[in-house]
Order: sequence, then structure tokens, then C-alpha cells
Amino acid sequence: MIRALSVVSEVFPLIKTGGLADVAGALPGALKPFDVEMRTLVPGYPAVLAALSGAEPVLERHLFGASARVLAGTGGGLAVFVIDAPHLFARAGNPYVGPDGAEWHDNPLRFAALARIGADIGLGHVPGFVPDVVHAHDWQAGLTPAYLQFEAPGRRPATVMTIHNLAFPGRVPAALLGVLGLPPWSYTMDGVEYYGGIGMLKAGVRFADRITTVSPTYAAEIQTQSGGMGMGGLLAGRSDVLSGIANGIDTTVWDPANDPLIAAPFDARRLARRAGNKAALATRLGLACGPERLLFGVVSRLSEQKGIDLVLGALPALLEADACLAVLGAGDAGLQGGLVSAATTGPGRVGVVIGYDEALAHLIQAGCDALLVPSRFEPCGLTQLCALRYGAIPVVSRVGGLADTVIDANLAAVAAGVATGVQFAAVTVDGLAGAVARTARLWRDGKTWRRMQSNGMATDVGWSGPAERYAKLYREVIVSL
Ligand code: ADP
Repeated sequence: MIRALSVVSEVFPLIKTGGLADVAGALPGALKPFDVEMRTLVPGYPAVLAALSGAEPVLERHLFGASARVLAGTGGGLAVFVIDAPHLFARAGNPYVGPDGAEWHDNPLRFAALARIGADIGLGHVPGFVPDVVHAHDWQAGLTPAYLQFEAPGRRPATVMTIHNLAFPGRVPAALLGVLGLPPWSYTMDGVEYYGGIGMLKAGVRFADRITTVSPTYAAEIQTQSGGMGMGGLLAGRSDVLSGIANGIDTTVWDPANDPLIAAPFDARRLARRAGNKAALATRLGLACGPERLLFGVVSRLSEQKGIDLVLGALPALLEADACLAVLGAGDAGLQGGLVSAATTGPGRVGVVIGYDEALAHLIQAGCDALLVPSRFEPCGLTQLCALRYGAIPVVSRVGGLADTVIDANLAAVAAGVATGVQFAAVTVDGLAGAVARTARLWRDGKTWRRMQSNGMATDVGWSGPAERYAKLYREVIVSL
């Protein structure tokens, strides 16, 4: 039995802003069959503390100006350690930004606290759970492997750093070096220094025993100049310990045959029932989109990464193809505005809901014919996996995890009967418009379309495969210490 501590800033179902929470929430359960007992360390945001039951204090510590407790308990079906530090985490809403939309000014300290406690538990300060491996996720947990290496190089647990998105490096002022408890000698290019500041993600990448990212293609992309976002050289230099493990989705939460959040449950043998979801979605968004019109969906953070500006740019081509569009998303104010005005200028054909809505996300996956994911880069992407499972054809840019998880309906793949979606390569308005037109042609060929749907629904998008790979990695890295 391996004991693993997952150190993460969000975890489903306790607190979620994106795919990171989904991954962190799914891993512990998925790892169990592979003989890994994983516990998860998360900050004590109000939502997390409210969901915690059976909490017992297991550690006390002074953390950046006030005392804090670590509570052990369960929440949302997970065994968790929660950092009860009101001066850092007793703030409602989004874990990273305040009500004015700006990052909390003390985020460096808030997440250094997360990493600090991760390292403490790693070093055995909670006797009831001494991990063999500490698994840190993204910049918020990036200092964990560094603290462990600096403080106890010969008697620390193995460390794994997972990059869910390299675009967030967690660069903080160099002046914080001492405050964060990092030794002066660590402030070098070969240490934690990152473009004149401290790179919290870089620290993890530099000092973890193993680095993973969330798809094989993204693992290759981030080792290049263009995809490396300033860390390509370091990552290429550590390629011997860097690998890509694609994410899965929770197939009990995302189960079209048993989904309380959709209008008409269905499975691969009863695909016709999807029509009930399409109708319910059209009603919900005020769309004039009956069975005769192709309905595209989008469920996304609204950001440049996700190519939402390309969706706006390709809208004329989409309408030209006599299709409709249903969008659910939140994020960038300019993109929100653009979408809302597209919905008012194209009433009945474009429906937009701004916000975060788990139930509507399910209905869009169940009701749209095709899901657009035109990301400029995409470490793994989860929505295309949900689409596969729900018989919605993913239309994706050929980058990162999108390239790894969707089989393009090219001539050979269609002839071999293995296609599951549509990929396009130039991530531009024209590239997306071309993909939309190609999707419309495929949709009119009902037989091919149904085959793609059933191929997608038969694709293994669950967590078992990825969890087995993580378990194998943990075993290897523990042995290698
Ligand atoms: P990200 O880069 O945002 O993490 P992923 O595709 O990896 O992208 O994961 C996004 C997750 O968040 C998916 O589970 C998706 O269904 C969900 N999601 C994104 N935006 C919304 C929204 N506005 N409402 C509900 N769920 C959303």
C-alpha cells in the first residue's frame, strides 16, 4: 500500500474553478484499486470548511502572521486535510480573486502556506499519515517539492509535480524569498529564480523527482521554445523525468444513462432520445433549433486560451451553415460582452448564458450535436471527453490533449470506422470556420455521424487507465529515491 498526499488549491466537489478540481477530486477514488491511499490537502476556504465532517485538529503552526490549524476529516466523499487559517482563506467566492476581479494581493503567502503544510505532512508531522509520495498540482503547490528538498534531502518522501496549465507560473516578487522561507542560495537560475522573481511552478518543476503533465502531446509542446512559456529549456533539460498522463472524467457524474441533470437520459443504443435534450436546451436558451438544424455547444472558461474570440469570428460561417450555437461560460469581460451581443443580434440562433452552471453544462453536452473546443493551447481538456461520452461530436483544435483524445474524421478514419470527432490545425477563424463547415457536411451524412457518436460513446474516458499510470509512476519514483 502506497500513501500519497495530494496538495492542491481546489478539489471537486468541495471547491472548483476548472479542470484541476475535477482531476484532484477523481484521483483518490481511482487510485484505490491500485493500492494507493491518497489524501488531499486543501486550503480552508469557507466552502471547504462548511463541507467538512468529523474534523479533528492534527497540526498547529504559525503561518504568515497568525496561527493556523490543520484539520483532518472527510468532505465530499474525500479524506482531506484542511488548512484552517482564517487570515488567509476565510474569503467567500473564487479562491484566487476578490470581488473586484483582481487576484488577492497575498496570494503568494496563501499558496506558500498550502505548500508549507504539504511539506510538513510530507515530513511526517502528522503521525497518522506519513506519505511515501507527495503529489503537488500547479503553481499553488509548486513550493512543496522545493521545501522538501531544501529541508530534508535525505529523508523526504518522493515528489511528483503535475503541470495542469503552464500558463500560470505563479511568479511572485523576489523580495518575498525570506518571507516564504526559501534559502538565499536558492535564488539562482538553477533554483527558484524566474524572470527576476520567484517562480512557484518553476520551483516545483526544478526540484520534484518526477514531473507530469496532463497529456502526452502537451508534454512534448511544453519542451519547445514556443510552447514552453519561458520554461521550455528547463523542461527539456528534465525530459528524462517528464511524462504526460491524460486525464479522465468521472463517468458516474458524467453518465448519460443516469444523469439527473438532463431532460432525457440515453445511451448508445437509444441515441434518438438525445432529441429530448436538444429540445430542452433550445427552450432553455430560446433557440429556434429543431431537429433540422445542427446545434453547436460551448462550455468553457471565456479566455483567449480557449479560442472564444475565434468562435465569435467564425459565427457568420456557423450561421451560413444554418446551424445554431449554445454557449455557457464565464471569464473575460470583453468576450462575455461579445457573446451577449452576438446573442441579441442573432436571436433564436445564438443562445448565451454567462455564469457557472453545472446542470446547464450537462444539458449542453446531452443536447448539442457538436461541441466546439477551439483552444489555442490545451493541456488536456475535459469538455471534449464529456462530449465523447454524451454523443456530442467534439470539434477541436489539434493541440495538446485535444490532439490525443479525439480521432479526426478524415477519409481514412471514416473508412476504417474509427472517427470520433473533427480536428483542425490552423487555430484561426478560418481554421475553425472550415471545421464548422466540415462538421455540417458530416452531420448531413447521418450514418457516418451516428457511427462517430457510437465510437465516441465507446471510448474509454474514465479514470481507471490514468490512475493506473499514476500508481505505476508513484511506485517507480519511490523505489528510485
Ligand atoms: P480548464 O482549462 O478551464 O480547466 P477543462 O476542460 O480542463 O478546462 O475543464 C473545465 C471543466 O469545467 C469541465 O468540467 C467543464 O465542464 C467545466 N466548466 C467550464 N466552464 C463551465 C461553466 N461556465 N459552467 C459549468 N461548468 C463549466
